[in-house]
Amino acid sequence: MARLVLPGKGSSLAKRGVLGLLSSFDIQGRQHHHTLQCQARKIGRNNFHISEEAVHRDKYFSSPSRLVSRRLLCSVAQPLLAQSEELKMSTPKEIYLKDYKALDYYFDTVNLSFILGEQKTTVSSKISVCPRTEDASCPLILDGCDLKLLSIKVDGKELKKEDYYLDNRHLTLLSPPSSSFFLEIDTEIYPQYNTSLEGLYKSGGNFCTQCEAEGFRKITFYQDRPDIMAAYTCRIEADKSLYPVLLSNGNLIGQGDLEGGKHYALWEDPFKKPCYLFALVAGPLESRNDTFVTKSGRTVTLRIWTPSHDVSKTAHAMYALKAAMQWDEEVFGLEYDLDLFNIVAVPDFNMGAMENKSLNIFISKLVLASPETASDGDYAAILGVIGHEYFHNWTGNRVTCRDWFQLSLKEGLTVFRDQEFSSDMGSRTVKRIADVSQLRNYQFPQDAGPMAHPVRPHSYIKMDNFYTG
Ligand SMILES: [Zn+2]
Repeated sequence: MARLVLPGKGSSLAKRGVLGLLSSFDIQGRQHHHTLQCQARKIGRNNFHISEEAVHRDKYFSSPSRLVSRRLLCSVAQPLLAQSEELKMSTPKEIYLKDYKALDYYFDTVNLSFILGEQKTTVSSKISVCPRTEDASCPLILDGCDLKLLSIKVDGKELKKEDYYLDNRHLTLLSPPSSSFFLEIDTEIYPQYNTSLEGLYKSGGNFCTQCEAEGFRKITFYQDRPDIMAAYTCRIEADKSLYPVLLSNGNLIGQGDLEGGKHYALWEDPFKKPCYLFALVAGPLESRNDTFVTKSGRTVTLRIWTPSHDVSKTAHAMYALKAAMQWDEEVFGLEYDLDLFNIVAVPDFNMGAMENKSLNIFISKLVLASPETASDGDYAAILGVIGHEYFHNWTGNRVTCRDWFQLSLKEGLTVFRDQEFSSDMGSRTVKRIADVSQLRNYQFPQDAGPMAHPVRPHSYIKMDNFYTG
């Protein structure tokens, strides 16, 4: 992920996101932080996010205009639980680095199917589940948040209520098969009411996802950890006039019209990935198209999607993308590995920029530039952040983290790569001065205050707190 402040802009993003320009490296026991983008802050008070989340949930569920009630979401989960028990179950656990353990089950393939609607969205997943050790029948614990479970099947057979346990954070299969099996789960979600902007949400007429770090659990029940890597397909079905563009990761392998003014697209990502890199975008977007021929001769289609009035401002971003692809080949020998690379730039993507495999998503201001309004600094910033997200294709995506304690590995290395890219494309000296200036003005004060934290923490409660807000 990346957040970038465009120099000279006084926007709220600039004010709030400025710490996100910084990445950290621990030098001689003190936290010196390297420059630019994507970094982590730690909330000193461990319970901070709990109260914040509780407040948010109350707002979310108390509005009479909401079609979804808290009871609806929780009724399947815990109809008989006393309130005190519910609160107890809502308390998240602190996660320690020292407790890392490979899970008892891994996932091989994941087939997702979305039916996007104005009132609700249904998500069907079919996962091939493999026990890590044969003949060990441990419970399979899936993460899930704000989901309504519609059905759950193992090898095509609907589970009975006594076969699983559901609370408001997990779905647990009590005794799954001891050898490989297919797990099918249907859930209902409400993207139009998702104000957390994690998981799948609808904003500005577009459906959009943000899954890093732990947003996928708001889409469907899953082992939501970076070390669970699977090959995905994604089928998206939606109204054709409202959502003419349907995007997900990988290559487009099918599309067509359906009855009732609907259409669908089918995407396949052949490379295994953690779920935090899953992405879906649907909406009335238009694209600037180009191609890039890799060093081994693969012709890659490049598309930058925006609302129609913004397409004319994407020329520099396309230049930056092609330059980044060529630079990564020349300097690091890393070639793009799919036939298609999509960028989406929409005004209401609050995470700044996200490196979802082959479907990078940006907030508009990190992509758009026109000679009438953009400064040299704006152009340089766009070059850097387009490069940063593209470079994650190898440093973060194809080679990913074991767990979130390794966040700074993917971010630190990718920031180093984007700094080298910007230096090679412009002035190395000017770039270094700008980076050091950022360190001195923003990172050093943070490290001298209560927001200081190790590059690799020993524990966390909510990973989101390690990203700049
Ligand atoms: Zn990043």
